[in-house]
Amino acid sequence: MEHRISKQMIRKIPYFEKMLSHECLESKENKVVLDFDEQAFKIILDWVERDYTIILIEMDYAFDLYELADYLGLDGISKECITYFHKFTIEHLPIIIPKMAKTTKFMTSGALDAFICRHFLDIASSFSKVNRNTKKTFWSKFPIETIEYICALDLMINSEYQVFDAIMDWVLSDSYLRKCHLERLWKLVRWCHLNDKDSSNLVNHLRISAGFEAKLCSPRKADCDCVFNRAKQNCFVMIETLDIKDLRVKVLDNNFKLLVSQVIKEDTSIASNFFHDEHVSDILFDSGRRVIRIDWKQNKYNWLYYTKLTISYEMLSRTWSYCLWDDEFRFQDTLLSSSPSGDKIILINKNTKDYVSFDVNTKVKSKGQMVSYSSADGQKESKTLLTFTSAFLPLNIIRTCLNSKSDSSENSQA
Ligand SMILES: [Zn+2]
Repeated sequence: MEHRISKQMIRKIPYFEKMLSHECLESKENKVVLDFDEQAFKIILDWVERDYTIILIEMDYAFDLYELADYLGLDGISKECITYFHKFTIEHLPIIIPKMAKTTKFMTSGALDAFICRHFLDIASSFSKVNRNTKKTFWSKFPIETIEYICALDLMINSEYQVFDAIMDWVLSDSYLRKCHLERLWKLVRWCHLNDKDSSNLVNHLRISAGFEAKLCSPRKADCDCVFNRAKQNCFVMIETLDIKDLRVKVLDNNFKLLVSQVIKEDTSIASNFFHDEHVSDILFDSGRRVIRIDWKQNKYNWLYYTKLTISYEMLSRTWSYCLWDDEFRFQDTLLSSSPSGDKIILINKNTKDYVSFDVNTKVKSKGQMVSYSSADGQKESKTLLTFTSAFLPLNIIRTCLNSKSDSSENSQA
């Protein structure tokens, strides 16, 4: 696109003002070549020519406009773009994902992926306001590229079943046109992490509802990319207070196997923005009234405050406390939690760490104590339990952060 504009007008943009006042080569030629989004450039020029009154920002080009405004030194506009971006909803994902191919100052692709992974179950089921009565989801309106991009990520799910369901929802919402995409999409279900019964059920479902014959991958033949089990990212999180500000965070799997144990320090400079880096996790507890944001790379945390209430604690205590009733168990200073896979209810004492666990399926109750013992940093004594809850965590990323630290320092914490 070529655009002519008077020097006097263009001088009002800091970038051009600087260029013209320096009398550099480009200014003698009276021509500047810039490699930016056309639409964004057009908006800036319109804004200059209309004598700086209004500027229109839409999600379609908010990113490009930000980039360009930032480059041209139009700080006011770039700030407005960031403010506007708070209007982001799931509906905008198809616009945003392709823009993230190049990492912008605005947001990294890692942060966007982390957001998608964390909120996949909401994304795959969120209904649009307009179409609530016709039950159309944003998800069902996404183009195939968006579906493909999302389903390939290390999504936070309880089972591969959920990815399968999401794909089938998308295909069957317009099956005449979309059945042809099944070939591409069914491979994004990590079949190796489903049990035999579930996978044969799903294959039958594919055959009946879409007439599609799926050949499954097999872990023994190693003919697939199912390396990472996404459904194992739902874990127990145990946070203990050490000093006044230091915390120890432990991550355990559904069977209480310790996966991560790390001391973290408070850092109030950790930002509370909605999109955060992939090595940052938010852990909600006290029914969502308290949120702790952990930066796994720096071993730091900060408190965030939300008022969003979830059902967990009050509901759990009303529903399940009779199951956990035990003459010997004292209920003062206890925390109630359910296991990551939802099959156990656990009541744990904050001070003694005595616990009672109730298996919902077998109705079997067991008692024990979570003993804190660390040989690596024995000088620190664990004190009160701040929370014992379950959360989705990006385990791959956490492990990478922790491993890179233990490689680089000798006195690291295991
Ligand atoms: Zn596989």
